[in-house]
Formats: sequence, structure tokens, C-alpha cells
Amino acid sequence: MTVYDLHSHTTASDGVLTPQELITRAKHRGVHVLAITDHDSISGLPVAQNCALSQDITIINGIELSVTWKKNHIHVIGLNIDITHHELSLRLAELQKIRQARAIEIGSRLEKVGIQNALTGAQQFSANNNITRTHFARFLVKTGKASSMSNVFKRYLAYGKPGYVSVEWVQLENAVELIKSAGGQAVIAHPARYKMSNVKMKKMLGDFTEYGGAAIEVVNSGCTRQVIENNARLANQFGLSASIGSDFHSPDNQYVDLGRFSALPDNVTPVWHDWEITVC
Ligand code: AMP
Ligand code: MN
Ligand code: MN
Ligand code: MN
Repeated sequence: MTVYDLHSHTTASDGVLTPQELITRAKHRGVHVLAITDHDSISGLPVAQNCALSQDITIINGIELSVTWKKNHIHVIGLNIDITHHELSLRLAELQKIRQARAIEIGSRLEKVGIQNALTGAQQFSANNNITRTHFARFLVKTGKASSMSNVFKRYLAYGKPGYVSVEWVQLENAVELIKSAGGQAVIAHPARYKMSNVKMKKMLGDFTEYGGAAIEVVNSGCTRQVIENNARLANQFGLSASIGSDFHSPDNQYVDLGRFSALPDNVTPVWHDWEITVC
């Protein structure tokens, strides 16, 4: 059976492994088809594709876009995108600018609650200067401001906390359009994590479907049976296909690892059902 993991991060965003290290780990863990989906960046993909040639693994060119939908922040994955697409590069450059400005603001908000040098600290955790809240979180844990990654988000970085800075990302409609125009399929990442009411989720998925979205992530590492069943129901209700992926960031979290998740339920259509890829 072919093992697909269609959601993972490298040092091009907030993962701790380089593309080469990620691929080596994926091979060890029995993954045959791996999508690399860094936040708002495709910079890890050329080296990944190069490395995959000698590693007998299929790498899917992916991205995880930061998206705004009616003031909600959600993540939309693009799979099989053309990484030479001009418009995509332009939009990613804009997102990087937003990230840079936001990082500066996060740094100064943290300073106001007595945490010095957080921006420099976060930058030191980022290999490619694509600064996310994860980089701030790693700095805050290292300097003893919180005991764990989840604790640091709860205290400083989650919505409503001192280091939370709200920005407008790409609008959902534009994100789907962009992914499609770059030849890819748009996938709603980890729907259960948004803590939306049922009504809101259905409204969002209705819009997503209308814009031409292809799939939702039905299974991630750590999803409960109940979450998986609910996601599968939503996929079928909206005529969306189903994706699966770990959302791997770091070997430090043993529960979120490449290829480590439950199987897709039988009653959904896998997002890869019409892919023409050669699996090694
Ligand atoms: P950003 O895109 O800069 O807002 O950062 C979002 C990233 O922070 C996500 O992709 C996760 O990797 C990480 N993150 C968000 N919430 C948590 C949490 N509660 N615990 C650990 N990591 C989190
Ligand atoms: Mn992340
Ligand atoms: Mn995400
Ligand atoms: Mn992710």
C-alpha cells in the first residue's frame, strides 16, 4: 500500500529539519509520497526535488498558505503547484513582507510585557528568515518564559495574548484562485483546529467549494476517531475529496511524525485519486 503524507514542514518555514533531512526521515518512516508544505514559502522545494531523485521517494510540490476568511485565520494547502508560476511568486513575496512586519510588531509587543530581544531571538531559530510564531515560541521556551510549546502559545502567542498580532493574510477566494492558476489543488488544512461552530464551518466550506477548492484534510497526526469521522462527513457533504498528512514540524514531538496517523476512512475519495504520479 502506498503511504501518502501530504503535510509537512522544513527549515524553509517553521520545521526544524532541512528538506534533505526531512526526506531521509520520511524514507525511514515508510512514506512513499511526501508533500512539503511550508508556510507561505516554496523555497525548500527545488532542493527537495533534487534530493528525491536519488532517494526513491516522490515529493509533491506544496505550500500552506496563511488565509483570511471573514476575519478568521485559516490555512489552505496547495498540492502539485507549479513553483515557477509568476503570480504565485509575487503573492508569496507579499506574504513574506506581511510576516516581516508582523514579526517586528510581535517583538515590540513582547517587549512591552518585559521580554527583551524576542525578534532577534526568533530570527536565530529561523534558517531562512521566514518568521512564524513557532520561532518566537522556541525562543521563549529556550529562555525559560514558558515550560513547553503549547504553554508558550497559551500564555503569549495565541489569539488575545500579549504577543498576538492580527494581520490580513490572503483572502480565501484569492488563495484558491492562486493555487488553481498555479495548476494545484486547494485543500483546507486541519479543519477541526479552527474551533468554528458547525454553522460557520459549513459556511466556510460552502465558500471554499464555490471558489473551486478541491479537498479537506480529513486526517492529521493525533486526530481522534470522532474528528476524522466528522471531517469525512464534511468532505462528502461538500463533494470535496480527502487529504491526509502529519503536519510534521520537529522530531521533538513524538506524536506528530511523518506517516504517523490513522488511515483515511473508506467512504471518502482520496485527493490523489486522479494523480498521475509514479510511486517509487
Ligand atoms: P504563524 O503562521 O506565524 O501564525 O504561526 C503558526 C504556527 O504556529 C502553526 O503552523 C503551528 O506550527 C504553530 N502553532 C500554533 N498554535 C500552536 C500551539 N498551540 N502549539 C504549538 N504550535 C502552535
Ligand atoms: Mn507551523
Ligand atoms: Mn497549519
Ligand atoms: Mn502545517
